[in-house]
Amino acid sequence: MSEFAMMLPANIALVIERLNTEGYKAYAVGGCVRDAMRGVSPHDYDITTSALPQQVKAVFSDRQVIETGISHGTVTVLMDGAPVEITTFRVDGEYLDNRHPAGVQFTARIEDDLSRRDFTVNAMAYSPTEGLVDLFGGAEHLRQRVIACVGDADTRFNEDGLRILRALRFAAVLDFSIAEDTAHAIHRNRSLLKGISRERIHAELCRLLCGCAAGAVVRQYSDVLCTIIPALEDCTRWEIIADALPHAPADAPLRYALLLHQLGEDNAKEALRSLRADNRTCAQASRLVGALYDDFIPTRTFARTLARRLGYDDAHSLLALHRALSLADTSADFRDRLSALDALEGYLEESERAGDCVTVAALAVDGRDIAALGLSGKDIGNTLERLLTLVIEDRVANEREALLSIVKSFVQ
Ligand code: ATP
Ligand code: MG
Repeated sequence: MSEFAMMLPANIALVIERLNTEGYKAYAVGGCVRDAMRGVSPHDYDITTSALPQQVKAVFSDRQVIETGISHGTVTVLMDGAPVEITTFRVDGEYLDNRHPAGVQFTARIEDDLSRRDFTVNAMAYSPTEGLVDLFGGAEHLRQRVIACVGDADTRFNEDGLRILRALRFAAVLDFSIAEDTAHAIHRNRSLLKGISRERIHAELCRLLCGCAAGAVVRQYSDVLCTIIPALEDCTRWEIIADALPHAPADAPLRYALLLHQLGEDNAKEALRSLRADNRTCAQASRLVGALYDDFIPTRTFARTLARRLGYDDAHSLLALHRALSLADTSADFRDRLSALDALEGYLEESERAGDCVTVAALAVDGRDIAALGLSGKDIGNTLERLLTLVIEDRVANEREALLSIVKSFVQ
């Protein structure tokens, strides 16, 4: 038995023990073993067992059991309300479309179940009685901080192209490198990603971009990103993007904005739409790309203008992205840019705290006031926008009488 002893939560230990008592093998498996071995507390636990789904149901007949994915061998047992997923050992049938196995076959051997898993660090199992089951050198790869396919990388990527992006995601999130043969196979097989559902790609890409080592992964695998987002083919700023990523907040829309910043607002939005990104991500990321195009000046008025255009939250995000890009591009006058950003950030905070008027709705006059002075249609909105500009530029106070007298001077 290996020396590694994994602390299992009581529920999980109980489930394994109960299955063992009934004569079945059972293990914690996959991400939870990987994370526990890295000294990171697992966010969830998957259990794999030799018991068939119906047998699992029988073992836990005194508990509430949900048939989550029974055709794939997964049932969920509620242990004092906490869901525990239990999946029967399985081997995947032949892959017909680079993504979906034609069927799953259950097996009585943990070895078979571990062989179908994607990477060695994800293909370890643990049970309190048997200890660690590590058939592919996962523990050693964890020590070396390496992502490597279980088995022949070309074969594994051809079975399921999404694994290409999963490899990059794990490398970015865990700050691991990718084994040489796996890396070559990633470059060679990247076009397989064209056959993978866009939603799944987007989900993996979000996690990749937010990973602490996203920069290194983007630098080494820009060809894979071009395959997913063809508009990036003309990108000339990979070095800057790679250097800037780790300096930006780990929030998907912000990191997407960095990745796509050279495309401009419309193309960035189009790229995100084609990835089936949610509306909020599309809108926020592309708006930030649009705003990144404009230079900034460290004045109170400019801070308010940003808040008007983007709202305070996105204005802060924009400055964070400018900062990340300035830190990445040390060739230019980056120290001046950084101190300008410091000042601008200060003005933005001051403005927010002071409750400055940065929206038409916050003006001390409204559309009816303007109409009463004889304006109609589009002129009303335009006039309000002009007033807002004057207020933001400190050329008039946001006071009703002052604003109305200005409008009167327009009308005359
Ligand atoms: P996390 O939950 O932190 O993302 P994880 O390792 O649990 O990490 P999941 O996507 O939840 O990742 O998958 C659970 C396990 O299932 C993996 O550890 C791996 O063993 C296996 N797995 C998941 N997706 C695939 C795949 N596409 N091909 C092969 N095995 C996979
Ligand atoms: Mg998981």
